[in-house]
Amino acid sequence: MTHVMIVGGGIAGCMTAMELVSRGYRVTVVERNQIAAQTSGESSWAGAGIVFPLLPWMYRDEVNQLALAGANLYPQVAQKLLRETGIDPEFTKCGMRILPPYDLALAQQWCEKNQIACTKVGEDLLLPNVAQVRNPRLLQALKQWLILHGVTLIERTQLLPIQETVALNTWKTTQGTQLQADIFVVTSGAWSFELLKDTAANIDIKPMRGQILLYQMPVNTLQHILYQDGFYMLQRRDGFLLAGSTLEDVGFDTSVTETAKFEMQAKAEAILPALKGVPIHQHWSGLRPGAPENLPTIARHPTIQNLYLNTGHFRYGVTMAPASAKILADLL
Ligand SMILES: Cc1cc2nc3c(=O)[nH]c(=O)nc-3n(C[C@H](O)[C@H](O)[C@H](O)COP(=O)(O)OP(=O)(O)OC[C@H]3O[C@@H](n4cnc5c(N)ncnc54)[C@H](O)[C@@H]3O)c2cc1C
Repeated sequence: MTHVMIVGGGIAGCMTAMELVSRGYRVTVVERNQIAAQTSGESSWAGAGIVFPLLPWMYRDEVNQLALAGANLYPQVAQKLLRETGIDPEFTKCGMRILPPYDLALAQQWCEKNQIACTKVGEDLLLPNVAQVRNPRLLQALKQWLILHGVTLIERTQLLPIQETVALNTWKTTQGTQLQADIFVVTSGAWSFELLKDTAANIDIKPMRGQILLYQMPVNTLQHILYQDGFYMLQRRDGFLLAGSTLEDVGFDTSVTETAKFEMQAKAEAILPALKGVPIHQHWSGLRPGAPENLPTIARHPTIQNLYLNTGHFRYGVTMAPASAKILADLL
């Protein structure tokens, strides 16, 4: 049985593992921290979980095609995870309401062309079929599913950057051990460039920090995801309400800042005045795997024959993950 080793246990790595094990591969996931936990900037835990691009009409068709393909797979993936693990990723079709200013003609034209339902509600534009998932639960469910399906999870193990070679037989860890597999897949998010920079991979991926605020509000305070001018708010089933996010080019700095907190708080209160005086429950950051034009790299390495890449999903890695995993599996 062909043994595939996946480097990075975020959403890209876990979904790739799920797809490959379903296709009969023997799969190992190596993660330098813990899968389904937030330790040092992992993007998948930190994200908002909106299963759709924000203003898709601003992106290239390739980005939207991948995002929509991912979004279309979510109901089925979420149901399978819930059924087989008992952990609910809280996939919820809640709709997204876009508040002015936005380009109405462009938005309506794009929705029509892509057969995405949209309706004008006063000055706002409602996309009723947009959904959300709850990232930490999605990751917990995926982790449990992988364990149930015999995937080997090697946690707290960091792989070192590799050198140019014809084929990889083993991959060295920071502890000095060598991990063996037939095929390797890099799904290391914002850290992917660091791992591959001494090879011909030619990937342009850098960390782009995003900060988010969390409030606790009465259930059903927000019916839809609200989006206005680069800022969004959404609510989980138990009342937790997320407001964010920033888009910052600050390297691997995962700290949260008071400036961002005050700015996001002001925006959130302007959209939802009921938040005034409500304490911020939590404030965190994550490092998105930033790539030019938000286009990920899902490909075989140009020179190392048994090495593949599924990384650089930037702002929409959660949305794209199921479709991206299928493309990668098809390539294998
Ligand atoms: C604030 C914020 C909001 C977001 N909102 C959304 C949203 O609403 N919708 C959406 O679709 N997307 C959203 N995103 C983007 C999305 O979270 C990312 O695109 C996605 O999580 C990337 O997944 P990943 O698995 O590639 O990266 P990660 O989740 O970062 O996973 C990479 C993993 O690789 C591990 N790793 C790195 N180097 C090594 C090594 N050398 N050895 C072993 N392991 C290693 C890391 O520890 C990490 O766990 C958001 C992101 C942020 C930060």
